Amino acid sequence: MIITEKRIALISVHGDPAIEIGKEEAGGQNVYVRNVGEALAKLGWQVDMFTRKVSAEQDSIVQHSENCRTIRLEAGPLEFIPRDNLFGYLPEFIENFRKFQDENNITYKLAHTNYWLSSWVGMRLKKLQGTQQIHTYHSLGAVKYNTIKNIPLIASQRLAVEREVLESAERIVATSPQEKQHMRSLVSAKGNIDIIPCGTDIERFGSVEREAARTQLGIDQETKVVLYVGRFDPRKGIETLVRAVNESQLRNSNKLKLIIGGGSTPGNSDGIERDRIEGIIKELGMSEFTVFPGLLNQESLPTYYAAADVCVVPSHYEPFGLVAIEAMASSTPVVASDVGGLQFTVVHEETGLLAPAQDVPAFANAIDRILLNPEWQNKLGEAARKRVESKFSWDGVAKQLSKLYTQFVQQPVKDPLFLFTSA
Ligand code: UDP
Repeated sequence: MIITEKRIALISVHGDPAIEIGKEEAGGQNVYVRNVGEALAKLGWQVDMFTRKVSAEQDSIVQHSENCRTIRLEAGPLEFIPRDNLFGYLPEFIENFRKFQDENNITYKLAHTNYWLSSWVGMRLKKLQGTQQIHTYHSLGAVKYNTIKNIPLIASQRLAVEREVLESAERIVATSPQEKQHMRSLVSAKGNIDIIPCGTDIERFGSVEREAARTQLGIDQETKVVLYVGRFDPRKGIETLVRAVNESQLRNSNKLKLIIGGGSTPGNSDGIERDRIEGIIKELGMSEFTVFPGLLNQESLPTYYAAADVCVVPSHYEPFGLVAIEAMASSTPVVASDVGGLQFTVVHEETGLLAPAQDVPAFANAIDRILLNPEWQNKLGEAARKRVESKFSWDGVAKQLSKLYTQFVQQPVKDPLFLFTSA
């Protein structure tokens, strides 16, 4: 006889699943953990999502649904700390994780860790108490460090941890075939990798008609709208988009609008990138038709995607790229960099276009091809929606993860009678 204890710890030290998305350092990982957690709970899992508490005002426990909650543990000072400076606080995180277990009489047999910092926590828990580990990288140092100029001090530590977890976890979840390929070619030939993509809410995205969305946002129906959604981080390549729009044939048509959506907190790291981007826009004389609506909340996002003619994802590197599938679910074609997970989600010439990262003329050309061909734009949008429906719904993703987890929480019981007599 087999018993299955459907309980899982999702560990996301720096990506709080209960926090507002789009702010400094809060992006795809937060969305992923929250949605996976909630969808798993609907499948009968008891889901506890562990993250780091960053202020005394934050609740220590946030209940999302009956079987799904976020648990905030103290590790270091109660303030925001950039992820590159968090490693030294992880032992305290583990200590408080174990304390939580003791106080609640729980021992997690399975943990799904997210990002390299949490992978270290998972590896320690395996040593200390035999917790089995599933891991998702969300970003690979080995790829990322090839795309940035200033390599942080923590780089060598991160690369070593990323290698160790690949070789030791029960299973690694790659979110695209491209990510798996990077793990194999740049990290290690050892270790078990499954591919399970990220997902999106196919009911929310796609629920608004373009005309209604434009009316709501006060945008003329004839205007061509180019949209960016995401964090202000140099790796996101917003500069490429801005320079490409500057080269668009529609640049001086009075019918073009560039919307750069995403959060920024003055004085913080995304604020610096935002200031830089605003500076380029001023220098190029694009201020009149460019808007920065700031942080787009969950209610307004579907409207922005629906209002856009094209959504541009110009990242230098993107392990998956949720924004691309959110736009696609909203029947908006995507122009994206030909990198990482975007090569998997965006089908070139079918659901959008891919262009070499940082290649301004190629982006300008791709954006214009779509904007100047409304019929083709609609066709791409419809195909995009279909692709997301068939491959990237959260419910579908959670079913695949549930199947994977089940292999690790099933325990054979030699003597079934024991179950009835031991109580
Ligand atoms: N996002 C948001 N509001 C914003 C900007 C971004 O909710 O103002 C969300 C966006 O919808 C997406 C996530 O943040 O779900 C970004 O994920 P992605 O994988 O594209 O990039 P990451 O931030 O992980 O690099």
